[in-house]
Amino acid sequence: MAVISSASPVSIASLFRPIRKYPTLPDLVITATSTSCLSSLSQPMDDRQQPGSKKRVVVCGGGIIGVCTAYFLAKKGAAVTLVEKSSVACAASGKAGGFLALDWCDGGPVESLARASFNLHRSLSEELNGPDSYGYRPLTTLSITVTESGPSSPSGSKSSGDSMIPSWVDGATRGPRTIGTTQTTAQVHPQLFTRTLLNTAVEKYGVEVVIGKLEQLRVEEGRVGSVVLEGGRVIESDSVVLSLGPWTGKFEMLASMFRVSGLKAHSIVLEPKDPGAITPHALFLSFHPQGGKAMDPEVYPRPTGEVYICGMSAEEEVPDDPEQIVGNPASIAMLKRVGKSVSSHLREGEARVKVEQACFLPCTDDGVPIIGEVPGMKGCYVATGHSCWGILNGPATGAAVAELVLEVTHNLDRAGVVGARSACLITLLSILLVVLVVSYVIIFQDCWFAIEFYNCSLVRRF
Ligand SMILES: Cc1cc2nc3c(=O)[nH]c(=O)nc-3n(C[C@H](O)[C@H](O)[C@H](O)COP(=O)(O)OP(=O)(O)OC[C@H]3O[C@@H](n4cnc5c(N)ncnc54)[C@H](O)[C@@H]3O)c2cc1C
Repeated sequence: MAVISSASPVSIASLFRPIRKYPTLPDLVITATSTSCLSSLSQPMDDRQQPGSKKRVVVCGGGIIGVCTAYFLAKKGAAVTLVEKSSVACAASGKAGGFLALDWCDGGPVESLARASFNLHRSLSEELNGPDSYGYRPLTTLSITVTESGPSSPSGSKSSGDSMIPSWVDGATRGPRTIGTTQTTAQVHPQLFTRTLLNTAVEKYGVEVVIGKLEQLRVEEGRVGSVVLEGGRVIESDSVVLSLGPWTGKFEMLASMFRVSGLKAHSIVLEPKDPGAITPHALFLSFHPQGGKAMDPEVYPRPTGEVYICGMSAEEEVPDDPEQIVGNPASIAMLKRVGKSVSSHLREGEARVKVEQACFLPCTDDGVPIIGEVPGMKGCYVATGHSCWGILNGPATGAAVAELVLEVTHNLDRAGVVGARSACLITLLSILLVVLVVSYVIIFQDCWFAIEFYNCSLVRRF
């Protein structure tokens, strides 16, 4: 029996970067959309399952990726245990902006995943009463240049394009541009989304939640058999999904295969006295502080009446305990300066600072998430490295991993396919998928997503 355990190789650097890039083309084009739901075929059994028994899957990591995976696995009939070492959505998945965009990943390797996930968010919102449960709403999104005002000039001056700027954005702005419409951009409150999805998974589909730290995987004859938690508790499983976010690099087995680093980013949540004045406009800023370098913070008003502002990122060591992540005072102070430069409604006295926080983006070297079965370890899957798009891409990732684990869409040896990246096998897979898509379209109209996803994203890793 092989025992795979966690350890902690971590990289440290310190540079400031923008969190996210938005499209620079003025016209965003909406092309064919992927459908929101996946097929609901009955699951095949693996060789160790008893006839009639459910497949037992342990999902490790209670961020959005783990929770979405647990939700779709359980919905499709698996017996799911979710293991989280701290609390559900305690890290980036609870502290992110929650911004969603249909087409901002277009032209890259996660285009299909992002488009499918944007649509899946919309249908989940219908299913789970998203507007009331977790603040789902479409948004208009603007890019604006904002210059910090001096103490003697509390109100800013506007320039061309004024009519496009909502009235609450009354700082010194210029160059506004619409970069997302209510058709192409939306938002959720990420912590409420993740917890709502998990509550549904627990209440409707029987997911069990265990607070404990994954310490080891037990592997027999190349197949995962159980997970061992800190303190010695063993949970038997037919499959394991590792969705450890930026802690992936602390799990030795994964760290030896690929690098997932943590990029620390800061955010504040403000409560303006007059929330009714704030319209649903997400702002991507080029912010010019007095005496400092330009930076790219983001401002998201929420339907709760709060305004979320994030930015100020730097590579830093990820602490073991998510609860120990705190913001650097200088970064938090800068975000407050952003708020007061954008709007008089966000100045001290006009808005209460409700939250000051920091968390880590899980980043891969090439910026592409790592999703698939771990080579040489049957039944062990990984889903991580979603960087600044984990809230957007969580649902489609979870749905796709669920299909992969339950072998719903096809029955190939994925370790072979993914591990070898053999052109021949990939072609074979593509042919099989084309056959499947045609038959599925006839039976279920909602299978495009899975096919696109397997072709474009899953097969490229490892
Ligand atoms: C400031 C900021 C703003 C962002 N804004 C957006 C946005 O607007 N839109 C968007 O799409 N994305 C956004 N993101 C990105 C998004 O938040 C992340 O990509 C996403 O949350 C990652 O989810 P995850 O589940 O992979 O990781 P995490 O949320 O980090 O979850 C990992 C979980 O695994 C648990 N864990 C770790 N090790 C173990 C172990 N050994 N045993 C058990 N549990 C373990 C941790 O406790 C944690 O709960 C933002 C990120 C940041 C930092």
